[in-house]
Amino acid sequence: MNLISDYHNHPLGHDPNRKYSLELLNEWADHGLKNGLKDVALTDHDRYHEGVNFENFRQFSESLAEKRKDIKFKIGIELDNDPETSKAGKIWTEKNYEKLDFILGSVHFIGDWAFDHPNYKKEFDNWNINKLYTIYFKEIQNIVKSGLVDGLAHLDLIKIFGHRPSDQAEILPLINETLDLIKSADMTIEISTAGWRKPVQEIYPSEEIIKQIKQKNIPITIASDAHAPNHLAEDYTKLQTVLEKYEFTEIAIFEKHKRTLILL
Ligand SMILES: [Zn+2]
Ligand SMILES: [Zn+2]
Repeated sequence: MNLISDYHNHPLGHDPNRKYSLELLNEWADHGLKNGLKDVALTDHDRYHEGVNFENFRQFSESLAEKRKDIKFKIGIELDNDPETSKAGKIWTEKNYEKLDFILGSVHFIGDWAFDHPNYKKEFDNWNINKLYTIYFKEIQNIVKSGLVDGLAHLDLIKIFGHRPSDQAEILPLINETLDLIKSADMTIEISTAGWRKPVQEIYPSEEIIKQIKQKNIPITIASDAHAPNHLAEDYTKLQTVLEKYEFTEIAIFEKHKRTLILL
């Protein structure tokens, strides 16, 4: 298999003072090339959009085209449901829509609780987990209905610390409904290795969901959710095993929101 893309990356990390610079992006290019990547989307969190510098990105892409022809970078954003910042993030995304190649949609909040942050993990104890999963997938559906995103990130992130619904059967129809909604909105779903480096130690989304994605013929992107250049393409050997198991033959890449499927 030819796993040549990584469509969820954070060169700005979680540093509000960092900016896209040629030095920064070149470091990502070097690591991407080293790992056999040919198409990499930069998708920093929308709350750090001030660090996304289109002019530096353009210059970087041009110099890259001259020096390192084997790799191409795309510029994107990860748009989430942060109750404080997502409104401004959405306005910025709409304004720069034509300049962006790819928009990822994700849910990191239940109300004002950043549930994937280790510092707030204890809050899970205050919830009925079935109820929590229900609210989480309704939030995913809201992102899909917004129509602004090209694909969904880490679809079952709510499992990050290993909390599982006591009754899976109660949640499955909602997951099925969510997948159908994504399919009818013609969006992609990300298969992400990031879950393997989180406490849950499992691919995002679960194999059970991956199986349904394949059955419903929903196009996928693949990603590491790298927050440092050396995370690029992390665990892609394990990813390949999963993709082979469920007989995926194509992955999606994007340019100015236009999706192309490439053969694996
Ligand atoms: Zn995320
Ligand atoms: Zn991310």
